[in-house]
Amino acid sequence: MNLDKRKDWDTYFMDIAYMVSTRSRCSRRHVGSVLVQGKKLLGTAYNGAPSGVPDCSEAGCMIAEEYELVTENGQEERMIKKQRCVRTIHAEQNLLLFTDRIDREGSSVYVTDEPCWTCANMLANSGITLIVYHRPYPKDSAKVKAMMDQKGIMFRQLEGYCPPPETVQKVQD
Ligand SMILES: [Zn+2]
Ligand SMILES: [Zn+2]
Repeated sequence: MNLDKRKDWDTYFMDIAYMVSTRSRCSRRHVGSVLVQGKKLLGTAYNGAPSGVPDCSEAGCMIAEEYELVTENGQEERMIKKQRCVRTIHAEQNLLLFTDRIDREGSSVYVTDEPCWTCANMLANSGITLIVYHRPYPKDSAKVKAMMDQKGIMFRQLEGYCPPPETVQKVQD
């Protein structure tokens, strides 16, 4: 790495979100998020079971199956069965549980993964005004983007970004 070239703030905070995600014990998905006011870090959170109860590494993932409508070739729609882990509180929800409303007013969230519908809905009502994510989550993306638009919350993917390799989970699903 060229030490003369400083990291820009987007990279800096996304790197921290990825570092935070390494705390997750869900083998299916490691997600990290950080709350930032201006250039100041106000909180960090990852997805996990409530503290004091067994997590995914101890009790296994709690798998829920659901059908998802996917669009292929731009038009063909079909239902496919998907599995997800419902043991964990999502990183974005934990971030809201561990930060104060007054700190969140006008602040930004950096999150490793595009928020799901439920998290996006909560973030939209949390006082934050900017969400930056890295990995896309196509399932909820269209409705999440439409809602952020309606709310006037800036919502963007960090493009051309490479997370620190040691923070990236080998995805199993
Ligand atoms: Zn899990
Ligand atoms: Zn979520």
